[in-house]
Amino acid sequence: MGVSPGFALGPAWMPDAASLPVPEINLPPEAIGAEVDRFERAVEASRQQLEKLKLKSATLPAPAGQEVGFLVDAHLGMLSRSRLLRGVSGRIQREGINAEAAIRHELQAISEAFAMMDDAYLAARFDDIRIVAGRLTRNLTNFPTLSINSLPPGTVVLAEELSPAEAANIDPGRIVAFATVLGGAESHTAIVARALGIPAVLGCIELLHHVMPGDQVLVDGSAGTITINPSAETLALIEARRVLAAREHRELVRLRNMPSVTRDGVEITLEANLNSEQPRELALAIDDGASGVGLVRTEFLFMNREQQPTEDEQADALSAIVKGMAGRPVTIRTLDIGGDKIADSLKLLVGEAVNPALGLRAIRLTLKHPALLETHFRAILRAGFYGPIRIMLPMISNRQEILEARTLLARVHADMLTEGASVAATLPPLGIMIEVPGAALAADALAAVSDFFSIGTNDLTQYTLAIDRCDEQVAHLYNPLHPAVLRLIQFSTEAARHSGIPVSVCGEVAGDPRFTPLLVGLGIRSLSMAPASLLRVKQRVRRMTLGAAQSFAAAVMREPDERHIAAMLDQSQI
Ligand code: PEP
Ligand code: MG
Repeated sequence: MGVSPGFALGPAWMPDAASLPVPEINLPPEAIGAEVDRFERAVEASRQQLEKLKLKSATLPAPAGQEVGFLVDAHLGMLSRSRLLRGVSGRIQREGINAEAAIRHELQAISEAFAMMDDAYLAARFDDIRIVAGRLTRNLTNFPTLSINSLPPGTVVLAEELSPAEAANIDPGRIVAFATVLGGAESHTAIVARALGIPAVLGCIELLHHVMPGDQVLVDGSAGTITINPSAETLALIEARRVLAAREHRELVRLRNMPSVTRDGVEITLEANLNSEQPRELALAIDDGASGVGLVRTEFLFMNREQQPTEDEQADALSAIVKGMAGRPVTIRTLDIGGDKIADSLKLLVGEAVNPALGLRAIRLTLKHPALLETHFRAILRAGFYGPIRIMLPMISNRQEILEARTLLARVHADMLTEGASVAATLPPLGIMIEVPGAALAADALAAVSDFFSIGTNDLTQYTLAIDRCDEQVAHLYNPLHPAVLRLIQFSTEAARHSGIPVSVCGEVAGDPRFTPLLVGLGIRSLSMAPASLLRVKQRVRRMTLGAAQSFAAAVMREPDERHIAAMLDQSQI
C-alpha cells in the first residue's frame, strides 16, 4: 500500500535490534523473579508478532509465502524451546542481571560456540538466532528501536513495523522514505509519513526477504511499489517524474498568498494538522498559508519518553505553536492515547486491552485520570496566553464526557486565575471530535453542549464500518466514501449548522483534493489537513463553485454504491 505519495531512491537500512546498546543492571535478589516474568512476557509478545506475520505470509503466492512461512516457523521454534531462551533465563537467575543484558551475553556465548564450528550452514542459523534475540530485545526496551536519526542523509528505512512514535522521530532530512511489512493505510504511522512529506509503502509482506543493507531501493509511495536496485530505464522514468513534480510544485507555491475562495466567492478556511513534536510541520503550515491549526495531536508529546512530560514541558511545546501561529487560532486536542497510539510514558495507565481501539482511549483515559487531564489543561491554558486557542476533546461518545471535561476545565481555569497565573481571562471554546458513529447520530444533542465540532473521518470510518484502520488485511474495506460514513458527515454538519456552532473536518479526507467539492457541497466550510496538502486543496477550492459542489454532493448522496461514488469523485470536473 502506498500511503504517502512521491518517490525516493536511496540505500536501504534495516534496524538491527540485536545491536542496540542496552544497559546492564545488577538486580537485587528479590527482583529476579519479576525479571524472569518480564522476559517471558517479551517471549510471548515476540511469539504473537511472529504468528501475525505467519498469518500474513499465507496470503502470498505459494513460493514466496512458503519461504516466508519457513523462516517464521524457524523463529517461532526458537521461541518455544531453545538454548537461547534457557540461557537467558539461567543468566537472569544466576548472574542477577536484567533480561536485555542477559540476551546480549547469551548471544555472545552462542556466537563463540558457532565460530569454533566453522560451518556455513550453522553460520546462517546463527543469523536467525541473532534476529530472534533482536526481536526479544526490542520487546523489552521502552525506547524506539530506531535510533535512525544518526543515519547518513538519503537513507531508505525498511522495517517490519514502525510505530507512530518511531515514525514521528524521523528526520526527513536524513530518511528519504520508508517501507514496512505491517501497517494499514490510515494508521497513524501513515499519517505521520504524509505529515513529514516522505514517501512510504506499508504492508509489503516480503519486504525484508530480498534486500540487503546498502542495496539501492526505490520507494514509490504513489504507486505502492518498492524496486530493489532499479534498472537504468526505471531511473530514467523516475527522473522524468521528478522534473514534472518540480514543475507542479512551482505552480502550487504561487498559491501561497492567494485566498482560499471558490470562484463564486465562498471562503473555505484551510487549517493545518500538527503532530506536536514537529517544528518543521509548523514552519510548513505557516509558509503555505494555513489560516490556523485545526488539530494539534498532543499525544505525540507523550511518546518516545519514559516519563510523562511535565506541565512546563507541555506548556512550552504548545506555546511554541501558539506563538508561531501569531494570532491565528490553534485547536489543541486533549491527549488521544490508545488504539495504535501507544506512549510508554502512559503504558501503565492504559493497561492491556483485548481490543484497544474500543478500550481506554482518548477522553475515556483522561477522564479516568483527572490529575493527568488537569495538568494537561493547565499547560493548554498557559499556551492560550499567547494567542487564541480552542480545546477539542477526542473520541467523545456522550454528553456526560463533555460536561465532565467542561467542569474540570472551568475549575482549573478558575484556580489558575486565583493563583495569578498567566492565562487568558476567559475560557477558550471547548469543542469535540465527531469520530464515533454514536456521536455523529447524536450530533444534535452533543451540539447543545459543544462550542464546535471537528469531524474525524479516520476514526469515523473505522468505527462505522468496523474496519481496523491499521490492519492491512481489511484495508480494502476501509472507505470514507461508504454511504454510511457520508450520511454521518452530512447529519453532523447539519446538526452543527442548526445549533449555530462551527464545524470542520480534520480527518485525512480533508487533505485530499478529490474530496473537496463533496465536503464543501455537504456544508463544510473549514478543513484541517497535513500542511503538505494545503496548497493542493486550495487549488481545488479556487477552481470550483459552491453551486456546482452542492449539486455534486446531492448527486453523491443519492448514489448507493461506494464504487460509483469513488468514480464520481474521480471524474468530477468541478
Ligand atoms: C480522525 O480520527 O479522523 C482524526 C483526525 O484523529 P486521529 O487520526 O488522530 O485519530
Ligand atoms: Mg481519531
